[in-house]
Amino acid sequence: MVVIMLGAQGTGKGTVAGLISQETKWPQVSTGDIFRKNISEKTELGIEADKYISKGNLVPDTITIPMVKDRLKEQDVKDGVILDGFPRTITQAEKLDEMLSKEGKKVDLVINLTTPMEEIIDRIITRRVCTNQECKATYNTKLHPPKIEGICDKCGSPLKQREDDTDPEAIKRRLEIYEKQTSPLVEYYKNKGVLRTELVSVTANHLGKDVADEVLADINKK
Ligand code: AMP
Repeated sequence: MVVIMLGAQGTGKGTVAGLISQETKWPQVSTGDIFRKNISEKTELGIEADKYISKGNLVPDTITIPMVKDRLKEQDVKDGVILDGFPRTITQAEKLDEMLSKEGKKVDLVINLTTPMEEIIDRIITRRVCTNQECKATYNTKLHPPKIEGICDKCGSPLKQREDDTDPEAIKRRLEIYEKQTSPLVEYYKNKGVLRTELVSVTANHLGKDVADEVLADINKK
């Protein structure tokens, strides 16, 4: 089963995707995580992608699409996958449909998390991520702080702010791109009949668990 998480930055889509992945055992494939891993390992792909990511721009399709194509060929996605951060444009969505149809698959369920814009900025600024690329746990200093300030609960590594979360211009650019290029995907998937009715994003009270439970109920129905 192919599940897509849509939602602007800071809506908690990564958190919800992680919870669904734990339950279903389907991998969470986050293009942002793949890029960040490559950036920290200073691979050729990482160095190239960083030129765009640091400014809040989308990484070009010539890099992103083959990367996703390769990832979707791996064995662990055979039964299911939760895509987090891809597709981000109609072109990417069409390419994904093409890739999947070659394997007799399709997008089965699309979840769109929404958060009021004022809150989104606050969530981006208060986001902290684990510096250990194998762990990648995400925290929020207000909604979901670590037990010890600056330290990951899961692996004990230091936490940091993502580079692209510290530059106000990059944040603004990402939100503009989301509005212009990514939000039309809601209509795209609505027309295909796979969009889950909008869910309100992760709030302080339920940290994504309620949302993930609703999505899991949907998955079980399918
Ligand atoms: P994320 O972790 O999903 O917020 O992604 C971080 C950054 O990686 C984005 O701001 C983009 O610069 C880049 N990125 C992630 N996914 C994509 C994608 N599907 N297409 C192009 N760029 C992407």
